[in-house]
Amino acid sequence: MGCLFCNILERKVPATVVYEDDHALAFRDIRPVAPTHVLVIPKKHVAAIHDLEPAHAETMGNLLIAARRVADQEGLTKDGYRLVINDGDAAGQTVHHIHVHVLGGRQMTWPPG
Ligand code: AMP
Ligand code: ZN
Repeated sequence: MGCLFCNILERKVPATVVYEDDHALAFRDIRPVAPTHVLVIPKKHVAAIHDLEPAHAETMGNLLIAARRVADQEGLTKDGYRLVINDGDAAGQTVHHIHVHVLGGRQMTWPPG
């Protein structure tokens, strides 16, 4: 079966895509935890933050820029929003292809759950 998010990138698994550029794809989370909940993924497969090397710097920079564009497009910039990257089991990472959660449309709490 392989990587779920690579399959979404290859359009083998359907998703509601809201943004795409040369480096990243963004689509709506199937189990949203906020009024806006979009996942932004790099087109290059990297499993997790703990795998990052200096060679991934451009990929990760482009990923954050894509997340910023998604937030703008979703109308979140004025009120603010939260970006989340879960790494490993303790953080609750379930899909092993790096993804930024773009969460907005409600007041976020701190500390996170
Ligand atoms: P994480 O727990 O940080 O690894 O986040 C994985 C996210 O992927 C969860 O919020 C899931 O709801 C979401 N997810 C899982 N499968 C799909 C899918 N097919 N399409 C969209 N989102 C998904
Ligand atoms: Zn992948």
